[in-house]
Amino acid sequence: MKAYAFDYVRAKTLDEALSLLERAGDGGKLIAGGQSLVPALNLRLLGPKLLIDIAHLSELRGITNDESSIHLGAGTRHVELATSPLIGQHLPLLQTAIRHVAHAAIRNRGTLGGNLAHADPASELPACMIALEAVMHVVGPKGERHIDAADFFKGLYETALEADEILVRIAIARCPADTRFHFNELARRAGDYAMAGLAMVMHGTPGHGLRIRPVFFGIGDRPVLASQAARCLEQATHMMDALADAQQALLHDLQPQDDLQADPETRMQLAQVLLKRGLADLMAQGRG
Ligand SMILES: Cc1cc2nc3c(=O)[nH]c(=O)nc-3n(C[C@H](O)[C@H](O)[C@H](O)COP(=O)(O)OP(=O)(O)OC[C@H]3O[C@@H](n4cnc5c(N)ncnc54)[C@H](O)[C@@H]3O)c2cc1C
Repeated sequence: MKAYAFDYVRAKTLDEALSLLERAGDGGKLIAGGQSLVPALNLRLLGPKLLIDIAHLSELRGITNDESSIHLGAGTRHVELATSPLIGQHLPLLQTAIRHVAHAAIRNRGTLGGNLAHADPASELPACMIALEAVMHVVGPKGERHIDAADFFKGLYETALEADEILVRIAIARCPADTRFHFNELARRAGDYAMAGLAMVMHGTPGHGLRIRPVFFGIGDRPVLASQAARCLEQATHMMDALADAQQALLHDLQPQDDLQADPETRMQLAQVLLKRGLADLMAQGRG
């Protein structure tokens, strides 16, 4: 199938992209790496009148840091995140996760902003953003606003972005020095979207102010912070002693969906297995 006819403009500045988007109204659509959008156009799932190309905007590029945070331009490509020494040093979770995102050719063009705005529930990076308590910097005709990652993903391919807004930057506060990261997913084949996945960030000591954020993806219509399971683990003196209770708490935290890949019971079991493996990995990092 071929896409419906559309006009195309390569925006030269962020302001130009914003005004084109506002003027186009419902008929306008941003394109960054095109790795999710172009298949949707070719399948005629979408029929925008105008594509606004933001792939070359300098305002969306770059990985920088300051005293308090790491800043990721929304136009940063997956491959750039995967090879950045700064990300390797401060946010290794993202580099582990990106190895599971699609294939090399897609990672060469796909962008962080496009991935997050697309909000596929089985996508790896949205879960990482919630685990890392990232803040989305968004601009629109009314100015700039900041949205916590936990409030950004609203449902199946749905975010808190308004149609006339652009995600420009993602800010992630520097993690404490004792932070441990874990990422794992279960997919039928390497490069496929996950049937279930888990991104976890933990710091502190069990029984003494431990803080843990287990975020599951590929289970429901959006990534979910398993807050009841986290509470069980945070209150335990020995984290592995609380494993069974935390696995049980997932029954309340998660609402697994039924689809061609797996039924809800299978997904719940996969989530419980992922939690067990993830905690074992976090504990092993402490011994290492
Ligand atoms: C075969 C295949 C396998 C894949 N497997 C995976 C996978 O395992 N895991 C995974 O996470 N992804 C996967 N993807 C998707 C891939 O990661 C894409 O790179 C990503 O989802 C979209 O990034 P993009 O820059 O290409 O966005 P585009 O396709 O250009 O845009 C996607 C959407 O985001 C909007 N958008 C783009 N940039 C912005 C912005 N800055 N502000 C607001 N809206 C914006 C667009 O309007 C569009 O609606 C796969 C894709 C393919 C084709």
